[in-house]
Parts: sequence; structure tokens; C-alpha cells
Amino acid sequence: MKTHTRVAVIGGGVVGCSVLYHLTKAGWTDVLLIERDQLTSGSTWHAAGGFHTLNGDPNVAKLQGYTIGLYDELERITGQSCGLHRSGGLLLADTPERMEWLKMAHARARYLGLETSLLSPSEAKRLLPLIEEKYFVGAMLDAADGNLDPYGTTHAYAKAARMAGAEIYLKTRVSSLSRCPNGTWDVVTTQGTINAEHVVNAGGLWAREVGRMLGLELPVLAMEHMYLVTDDMPEVMAFNKERGHELPHAIDFKAEIYMRQERNGIVLGTYERACVPWSPKTTPWDFGTELLEPDLERIAPSLEIGYQHFPAMAHAGIRRIVNGPFTFSPDGNPLVGPVQGLPGFWCACAVMAGFSQGGGVGLALSQWMVNGDPGFDVWAMDVARYGPWATRSYTNEKVRENYSRRFSIRFPNEELPAARPQQTTALYDVLLAAGAVMGDSWGLETPLWFAPPGVEPRDVVSFHRSNDFPHVKAECLGVRNAVGVTEIANFAKYEISGPGAEAYLSRLMTNRMPKVGRIVLTPMLNPAGKLIGDFTIARAAPERFLMWGSSQAQIYHMRWFELHQPADGSVRLHRFDLGLGGLSIAGPRSRELLARLTDEDVSATAFRFLDHRAMEVANCPALVNRVTYTGDLGYEIWVAPEYQRRLYERIRTAGQDLELIHFGMRALLSLRLEKNFPTWYRELRPIYGAFEAGLDRFVDLGKPDFIGRDAAVAEKASGGKLRRVSFAVDALDADVLGDEPIWHGGNVIGWITSGGYGHYVDRSLAQGYVPAALAGDLREGAFEIEILGDRRKASMLREPPFDPEGVRMRM
Ligand SMILES: Cc1cc2nc3c(=O)[nH]c(=O)nc-3n(C[C@H](O)[C@H](O)[C@H](O)COP(=O)(O)OP(=O)(O)OC[C@H]3O[C@@H](n4cnc5c(N)ncnc54)[C@H](O)[C@@H]3O)c2cc1C
Repeated sequence: MKTHTRVAVIGGGVVGCSVLYHLTKAGWTDVLLIERDQLTSGSTWHAAGGFHTLNGDPNVAKLQGYTIGLYDELERITGQSCGLHRSGGLLLADTPERMEWLKMAHARARYLGLETSLLSPSEAKRLLPLIEEKYFVGAMLDAADGNLDPYGTTHAYAKAARMAGAEIYLKTRVSSLSRCPNGTWDVVTTQGTINAEHVVNAGGLWAREVGRMLGLELPVLAMEHMYLVTDDMPEVMAFNKERGHELPHAIDFKAEIYMRQERNGIVLGTYERACVPWSPKTTPWDFGTELLEPDLERIAPSLEIGYQHFPAMAHAGIRRIVNGPFTFSPDGNPLVGPVQGLPGFWCACAVMAGFSQGGGVGLALSQWMVNGDPGFDVWAMDVARYGPWATRSYTNEKVRENYSRRFSIRFPNEELPAARPQQTTALYDVLLAAGAVMGDSWGLETPLWFAPPGVEPRDVVSFHRSNDFPHVKAECLGVRNAVGVTEIANFAKYEISGPGAEAYLSRLMTNRMPKVGRIVLTPMLNPAGKLIGDFTIARAAPERFLMWGSSQAQIYHMRWFELHQPADGSVRLHRFDLGLGGLSIAGPRSRELLARLTDEDVSATAFRFLDHRAMEVANCPALVNRVTYTGDLGYEIWVAPEYQRRLYERIRTAGQDLELIHFGMRALLSLRLEKNFPTWYRELRPIYGAFEAGLDRFVDLGKPDFIGRDAAVAEKASGGKLRRVSFAVDALDADVLGDEPIWHGGNVIGWITSGGYGHYVDRSLAQGYVPAALAGDLREGAFEIEILGDRRKASMLREPPFDPEGVRMRM
């Protein structure tokens, strides 16, 4: 056994073996894998082996496409069969809403380059005669679906890695991990200790236990999962004989089942409502290749509907039932990437669809380790998307919710109920009393909109404009015409201080740092010049900066900040989390309101746009920024949580005769659309450059050095490939949601990032990316955007529809 290695991968399931192979492919060959038992002996060996490209996140869908394409390469390199059956698959819709969802998935597949088509029920039946047509309203065919042999595939990854120089130790368990003073890791195993520069947790069913070796509680939980295999079915054999090929896969959303051909019968698996976690606290180390006790009762409701939808199945005998555990994160996507605070410790776990995602996870992780960047937008599966609020019991509630909803539609305005409220601010009850409909923002209850008296504070879920529409409109008009107040505690807030703070921030950010008492807006780039953040930075004192950013990206950003923090102690980093609460007041009367709460001079000349000041507001020690995301005159007022209630009550009282209204996140997002402001995770993601995103004015190329400068210079010289643009859309009763294709001249040329209704300007608005060459086509209706399968005319906007000169922000 080696005593030193560059990378030690823990776990020989399909994911660990894929990571090992991809590391060798990326050029690191001094790598090894440690497996407790035999390859596949976690959840991999009893998988049903199905694969598909469909995923709620288009970037994960792309990586699934990569995985599926990889199997031929693996077979070619190794000569080891993956047992591929590329049969295609049908997704069967039983309701018009589900069909709308499939139309959206089909539209998105267009710009992802995936091959899908929409079918009528009779067309679906022609492809899969087992279905009872009358239960369905339509279907989507995904040509890339298929299934494989889990054992052969895992061994193919392992063989390819070994051929490139990697080593694999079987029957060797990692029992503990410790960090050495030089930053490397001692990996203590039952066969000896290996010193490794990097450790990858691909522990699958034991990923939680591997994390705990370092005091880390990863949000991952195993669930029991059952599928049954039928006896030979004459209907299947007749189909094979007549058509000369296998049955296509099928997912029946109503019955919550998936099925595919296995020999001359069918494999049928369920994602039942009455789902059951497995080993919710600790996974026993001696759990081997045994199966769990089947429980047909639990899946009976799904089988009952399935037997109606596929009548031939009802007569088929059951040859065997498989019940095995596999792992999920709270949102069902993998946990991948470096762990904040533990340099050199990487995750590749909670991969619930190892045969759709394993290749993409291996590719992204290996590039991340070798090049410092995953090379893709992997935000949807980044381990950093969860904060400390994702506790073990939170994870348990969310994973059960996610599992039982695996085949349910998530509507764009749907907030899921499990594990809520998890975190609340001091204003929670008063905002609820004011009619707030709450949403979950990074584990924190945050007001979305306010129901006026007599209106039930509840969302009616839909892909179309819904019951909140008139109320959000009233909030937007209230802000634009007078003044509104909203809670902004969910923003990320940081303090960066110390003698090295300015130089440090100047190197991380593209903009120049502000003078004391001033604010700048600044993107943050990776070395490839791609956007990895967007911040508001205020200088409170020569060596003290306050910074605001996206709530969801707090751990993601802290990981980056720590990576670049000087070792000499000259820079201190602090994330406030909920240690700082905030209220924003915005609208033309907001200055009058603020003036009533403080004896400071807040006149237009004394307290200017982008000024920052510590002042007393409503008796509370507060930090005030003259900036709002509404694009209007406005202020963000930040106080310690114990003052938040007082501040809010005084704002309410002082604003009574100023027509003060409440507004929520939905109004805020609509108001920012009217200003063409981008938002993190939609318009701003690590696949776009700052110039492509239209953030040129926040990139100071006059600065001699900042991360990503060379790439930014090159992007500016070339003009970049893409351009963020905005549209007025000729929408009917549904606005864009994000991820819709943009058409031009009969071709799909781009995609929408976000949009909605601009209530003040009274237009349906959208933002998205198009090739730079088309960004000047301002002809009326020159573009089309596909909303719910319907191509709607769209006109590119030359400037923001509200206050293009920015007079209101500066008034
Ligand atoms: C019934 C069932 C059906 C499924 N059907 C499908 C399907 O159709 N399609 C699909 O894509 N997915 C399916 N899955 C899910 C699939 O099995 C998983 O996505 C996949 O196996 C995850 O692989 P992994 O490598 O992450 O984890 P695992 O397979 O659990 O591998 C982890 C490995 O790490 C080893 N290990 C852990 N800790 C240590 C340690 N301390 N020291 C050394 N070794 C350690 C374990 O022994 C294990 O071999 C199914 C799962 C089940 C249970």
C-alpha cells in the first residue's frame, strides 16, 4: 500500500470510480481509491440502472447528457461492457398542467441540444402499446433515455482509471481523517495510513459518516427504494418480435412509477408518498450487499394506478422485489465540490442518479481539483448551497418531501412546506399579521407578497399569472408612487477588516474600493473571467468594509474569500448571517420618511446616492446605505436583530400619512426588472463574463491587478460571445419564468434567465442571453420567446423601461 498520494478517493461506488477515472483523464495519475468492501458494494450494486437527461436545472441536465454520452467511450477504452440499452423513454402526462411542464422541458431541451419530441396519447401508445391511452393527455419522448449494467459500468470506470495509473485498494476501510500541519491529510485505514494532498468523500451510503470524521454534518440521507421485476410477459415478447427492439422506458407521473424492459419482463419502480428513510442517524459499517425487507403495502397505491395505466402489468407475476437504500440531499441534487473551511477536502456524494449524473460529477470535480474551477456551472449541485441551518432533522424532513414529490410538478410560485419555518426574524409574526405570504430564502422565512385585508394570504400555484398578481401590482405602484417598506434580512452581509482589507478586496473584486462613507457595486470574477459574485461594498472606516451579496451564495463566497485570505492575519472575515437585520424603504417619499426617524441631515446633497453612514434611526444604532434594488430613491437600514422590531414599528408609524405600503420579494424582483438589474444565479452565473452580462461600468481595467483581469481584458477586446439583453414580451396570461428558448429567424439562438411582469411599466419583461451579433436587433418583434410551448413575439429593449437615466435613484 502506498504511503503518499496526491488524491485519495473514499468509496468505490459508481461515483468514486468516475471521479478516479476523470482525475486520470485530467492528468493526475498519482491517485488512488479506497473501498471498504468490493466495488459497487454500497447502493450501486442493486440500482435499476436507468439513465435520462431530464433535470430541473439545465446545467445539471447538460452534465447528465455528458454522462450518458460517456459510456461508449468507456467501453471503447476498456473493452468492458456497460450493458447499454439505449431504448429511449416516454414521460407520460395525465393532466394539462403536467403537459405544460413537459412543453417547458421540451423547449429547454432545444437550447441544451437534447433530442426530445412531444407526442399525443395515441402516438405514445404506438411506441409503447402497454399503456391505456385514455389516462393520458400527452407525452414527451426523450431519445437519450436507457439503462445499463451498474456492475459493468462501475468496473469500466475502475478499469479505465487503473489503465491510466490509478490504484484501487479493496477491503480497506477509512476509519479516520486528520489534517497535518502542512495542510495535507492523513487518511487512516484498516490497512495503514496514507498521506494525501486531497481527499474526496465519495462514501455514498456512508458519506455522512465520512463527513463526521471531520465534524461535518453533511445534509444527506438514505431512503429505502423499491422496484419489482415481473415474470416474462407475452405482451413484451410480442412487441420485441414485431418491432425488433426493446420497449421504451416510461415514467408515469400520476402513478409515480418508472418502468423499463428487463429480459422478457418489466422492471417497475416507485417513488411512493409513504416513503421511509433508512438508517436516519448512522449507517452501520457492516451493512453489506444485503437487501431490505420489501413492503408492498407501502407502494400499493402507486401499483394500483400503475396497473390501471398499464393493464398487462396487472396480470404479470412478480419474479422479485428489490428494496435498497440510496442517498439524497434536501433538494435531490448531488453535493459536489470543496468544503468551506476544510481545504483539500472534497465531496462527491448524495448522487441519487449515479448512472445519469456520475460521469458529470466526476468530470466537474476533477476539473475543479486540477484547474481550480469545475469548468461548468455546477451551482445546482455545489455542496456550498447549504448553510448551517440544513441540520440532520431538517435534511430528514426535506429529503422525505423531495422523495415523495419526485414525480410531482413544482410550480414556479410554489413554496414547499416541509421543515418550515426553519429560521425566522424578529418580524415574522408582525409581518404575518400584516398579511405576508412567506417564502423560503436560504432557510429563512421571507415575505413574498402581502394579502390585503379580506384576501386569503395563500398562493394558488400555477404556471400562469396567479392570485398574487393584483396585489404585487399594488405593491409596485405603492413604491413607485409613494413609499414602501420591505424586510431584507435575507441578503448576505459580511465585514472585511484589517490593514490588508483594501488590497485584499481590490484583488478579489473588479471595481475600485470606495472612499470612507461611499459605496461601490462590483462583480467578482474567477481567473477565467467568469462571474462568481456581485456585491455592494461600503467603506465604513479606512480598514473596515461592509459588504452585501446573494443570500444563497454565502458559503460559496466564504469558501472563495477564505481561499484568498492572506496567511499573515492582515485581513479578518466575518459573515453576519442573521446577526444583522435589515429593512429597505423605497420610493419618492422614502427620504421624507427617513428624515422623520433621524436627526441626521439626509437631504439630497448631504446624503447622496451611494452614500453609507452610521446613524441613529428610530433610536437604534443603524448603518444606512442610500441604495435600493428597486431602482428608485431608497435606503437600506441595517440594525442588530434586537432593534429590528422597534425600527419596523417606528417606520410604520412615521409612514402612516405618507401612504407607506408593505412590499415583498416578488414586487422587488418586478421593480428590478423594470431597471434591467441582473440577479445572482439567474443573469449572473459562472458561465458569463462581466462584459457579456453588461457590467462593464463596474470593471475597472485601470486597476493593475485583480483576479480575472487578463480574461476580462481579452473579453473586452473580443466583445465576448454572448450579450445579456432585455425584452418586452407579447405575453398572454403567462410570463417567462426562466430557461425558455429565444428564437430569431426561425432558430433557437439563446435562452431566458428570468422575467415576469413589470407592473409599473405595465409590460411583460424578460432578460436573457443572445449571441453578441444579435444584440443590436431592435426591430419590433424580431425575436420570439417560447412560453409554455407557445412562441410569443418579443422586442429587444434599448434601455430600461423605467427611468433609463437613473434620475429617481439620484433624486
Ligand atoms: C433500488 C435502487 C434502484 C436504483 N435505481 C437507479 C437507477 O435506475 N438509475 C440511477 O442512476 N440510479 C439508481 N439508483 C441510485 C444509485 O444506486 C446511486 O445513485 C449510486 O449507486 C450512488 O453511487 P455512490 O458511488 O455515490 O454510492 P455507493 O454506491 O453507496 O458507494 C459508496 C462506496 O463507498 C464505500 N465506502 C463508504 N465509506 C467508506 C470508508 N470509510 N472507507 C472505504 N470505503 C467506504 C462503500 O463501501 C461503497 O462501496 C438506485 C438505487 C437503489 C437503491
